[in-house]
Amino acid sequence: MKVNNNDNRISARSKGISSFIVMDVLEKAQAMERAGENIIHMEIGEPDFDTPEPVKQAGIAAIEKGYTKYTHSLGLLELRKAIATHMEADYGVIVEPEQALVTPGTSNALFLALGVLLDPGDEVIMSDPCYSCYPNFVSFLGAKPVFVPIHEHERFQLLPERIEEKITKRTKALLINSPANPTGAILDRDVMERIANLGPLVISDEIYHGLVYEGKAHSILEFTDNAIVVDGFSKRMAMTGWRIGYAIAPPTILRPMQKLQQNFNIAANSFVQWAGVAAFAEGAPYIKEMRDTFEKRKKFFVEGLNKIGLKVERPPSGAFYVFVNMSQFGENSLTLANEILEKAKVAVTPGVDFGSGGEGYIRFSYANSMENLDEGLTRLERFIR
Ligand code: PMP
Repeated sequence: MKVNNNDNRISARSKGISSFIVMDVLEKAQAMERAGENIIHMEIGEPDFDTPEPVKQAGIAAIEKGYTKYTHSLGLLELRKAIATHMEADYGVIVEPEQALVTPGTSNALFLALGVLLDPGDEVIMSDPCYSCYPNFVSFLGAKPVFVPIHEHERFQLLPERIEEKITKRTKALLINSPANPTGAILDRDVMERIANLGPLVISDEIYHGLVYEGKAHSILEFTDNAIVVDGFSKRMAMTGWRIGYAIAPPTILRPMQKLQQNFNIAANSFVQWAGVAAFAEGAPYIKEMRDTFEKRKKFFVEGLNKIGLKVERPPSGAFYVFVNMSQFGENSLTLANEILEKAKVAVTPGVDFGSGGEGYIRFSYANSMENLDEGLTRLERFIR
């Protein structure tokens, strides 16, 4: 649905929010499917796997046991303890369960974090391209997103010296994401360490941890306490629809976040939190299996792209996206994505959805079966010809 920007009942703040183009693409593709077309979906950032069985069973059991009431506003202590255990086991970082806040999705954890940090006029530094919702969250709160360009020839690394040039008295936070959406890049260890030491608080979106094919994804908390981690179960545990995530923050920041949670959400969904406990306890083999499958698909898809003449200089290191320069087919990625959908019947996300730095690029999600990836490549090849 198109937003009617002339409706004077709508706040200026809301009018300033652009649509999430990938959702527009998905909805258009679904309308085409209803009209009888066959579409290959490579637009949406969602694992095609089912949620692991023990997690589903834990959610069902929690409902049956009657765990359907409000929980503590920070989240179940069992789940916050599991988060703390995970941080120590995977990164050697000690956090207290009192530093964790369980939220309805990573998106919400990020919104609560930015909500407690930002006053109108404040600035948040982020990469361009970056996850589309980041600048919208910041603008909605009256603050200003400040962009640092990242480039394919620099392996999409967010260079600390370039961030430093953008730091002002109004800089409230640096927002990073590794492995990254849309590039699949993982920040090098020394890059993260240097970003951690630039001065401003770092908000680190670690939602794609666990989906790593090359190198290691570090948590920002390995390098500094002056940081907030936001993370969740959507991607590595194939739990997008459950709506659960969490934040880990310094105590003086977590308490105001808890107050926002109490007001806006009261608490995260209770039985979903029990599923989250099971995800930590029993998820590891499932995460590994899904990761391995994604890795095979990535190899197959990147090789396929190269074969049909869409050159990927370096395969992505994590997440489940390939960000491909397709500017030879037109600089306007939105027009190109529409053409690919209409003519090739492959749904893809235009790079501009991730910022002007993504213009000329198309993001392909390989969270799809080998058969569909193969068919997608065949259709793309035909389209290019
Ligand atoms: N951060 C990034 C980088 C993402 O790609 C997404 C989902 N597309 C989210 C956050 C939102 O995750 P959740 O489903 O946990 O709200």
